[in-house]
Amino acid sequence: METVVLAHNYQRPEVQVMADVLGDSLELAMRAADEDADRLIMCGVDFMAEVVKVLNPDREVAIPDPRAKCSLAMRITADDVREIRRERPDAAVVAYVNTPVEVKAEADVVCTSANAVEVVSKLPEDEVVLVPDTNLASWVDENVPDKEVVGYPPAGCCPVHQAMTPSDVGRLVSSHPGLPILAHPECPRCTRMTADHVGSTSQMYRWCEENGPDGVILLTEEGLGFRIERELGVNVVTLEHAVCPDMKVITADKLEKVISSERLPEYTRVEIDGDVLRDAQESVEEMFRLTG
Ligand code: SF4
Repeated sequence: METVVLAHNYQRPEVQVMADVLGDSLELAMRAADEDADRLIMCGVDFMAEVVKVLNPDREVAIPDPRAKCSLAMRITADDVREIRRERPDAAVVAYVNTPVEVKAEADVVCTSANAVEVVSKLPEDEVVLVPDTNLASWVDENVPDKEVVGYPPAGCCPVHQAMTPSDVGRLVSSHPGLPILAHPECPRCTRMTADHVGSTSQMYRWCEENGPDGVILLTEEGLGFRIERELGVNVVTLEHAVCPDMKVITADKLEKVISSERLPEYTRVEIDGDVLRDAQESVEEMFRLTG
């Protein structure tokens, strides 16, 4: 059986080196669709494995440990989306990729941090509710000034990026003066404002590839720093607390166990109810339609 191992940019170094493909969640799911493999193993958090299944419904999809759950994605439910629709019937509901598959199924369209601005700017609605990251919503709101973009739930945020403060950045700049600063849009606005470039993990990687700096200050999870240093030879400075415990649930031992099993262990299999799968596919396809 042909197996492809996909790993998110935030995975442990020892997992990254075992992977066939590295990238952000959507890049991985799309690459997986191009691979000629019967079995796809996703090293990341559970919503990422769900996205792989949504885009590859006829293949076996597994996650080495399904207890890897994104703390941000767990902030929103499908019931919350139905409530938003009752309260704001004229608003489009945009589900960030960091959501459970049931939320994607209820939403109008999915977005990633790489394409959120483009998706929202191309929607016909003037009012947009973006779930569940309020920092990403505020970044989109700044970049799509002709629309009202609000985040829900009110305190929805990634705890890892939320903890990156301007004083943290000041500390890094004092010890590493002159380095360009790259920030993820999940950082709070006050922290994003210290950055030279704001973008998703894939956009930060490409920025380094295209600009070839000697070093960078990276305001995102440390795992991306390992990849950039290893593949591009750029020295990366990250914050000591830029570690996502949810992402580190996957270990090399757990991955090895799945790779070496002839039959996938039942607990690792990703299965999605038919109606939810179909509705989530429509929301993802709408994103592809809007972004061409
Ligand atoms: S870094 Fe934040 S958004 Fe990404 S998986 Fe961890 S908790 Fe979720």
